[in-house]
Amino acid sequence: MNIVIFGPPGAGKGTQSKFIANKFNLYQLSTGDLLRNEIKNKTQLGSEISSIINSGELVSDEIVSNLIEKFVSNDTYKNQIIFDGYPRTLIQAKNLDNLLKKHKQKIDMVLKLSVSLETVKKRILERQTQEKRADDNEEIAIKRYEMYEKNINPVIDFYKQTNLLKVVNGETAISEISNEIGGLIESIKG
Ligand code: ADP
Repeated sequence: MNIVIFGPPGAGKGTQSKFIANKFNLYQLSTGDLLRNEIKNKTQLGSEISSIINSGELVSDEIVSNLIEKFVSNDTYKNQIIFDGYPRTLIQAKNLDNLLKKHKQKIDMVLKLSVSLETVKKRILERQTQEKRADDNEEIAIKRYEMYEKNINPVIDFYKQTNLLKVVNGETAISEISNEIGGLIESIKG
C-alpha cells in the first residue's frame, strides 16, 4: 500500500504520517525532513536549498523528485510508503505517477488534511517553542500557507479524477483524526 498525505503547514501531516506508518507498517517519506537533513548535514544540496526553505518558498520540483526516486526505486520500500508533504504541485503529482508506474507501483489512497489559516498560525507558533524550525515564525508560516494554497488546487483536481482522494478535517483532536484515517485505510485494505 502506498499513501499520499497533504495539507497546509501545521495541518498535522507529520503527526498523522507517523501514526499511519506505525499502524500499517509503512515507511514515512517526508520531503520536508529529507530536505532539512541535507541542511543539517551541510551537504552541497543543503547549502543550495536552505535559503529557499527558510523563506517559505518551494524547492524545485526536480530536486524533490530526485530525492523521492531513491526510495521509490528501492525494493525495501516497495508498496510501503506514506508520502508526507509530496506532491505539492501538479508537476510533482505527475512525476510521482510516472515514477510509481516505472517501478510497478501505484497510489492506493490520497488524504487531504484540511485546516484554516487561523489554526495554522496558532499551531505553528506553538510548535516554534518546541522544535525551533527556522521557518516556523508567523510571517514565514503565512508565506508557506500561501504557497500551499497557490499550488495545491491542480493537485486536488488531479487526484479527484482518480477517486483516491479522501478529505479529513484536521481541526479536531489528534486521536480523533487518527481514528478517522485509520478507518479509511482499513476500508481499502480488504
Ligand atoms: P510544512 O508543510 O509544515 O511547511 P514541511 O516540513 O513539509 O513543512 O516542508 C518544509 C519546507 O520544505 C517547505 O516550505 C518547502 O520549502 C520544502 N518542501 C517540502 N516538501 C516539498 C515539496 N514536495 N516540494 C517543494 N518543496 C518542498
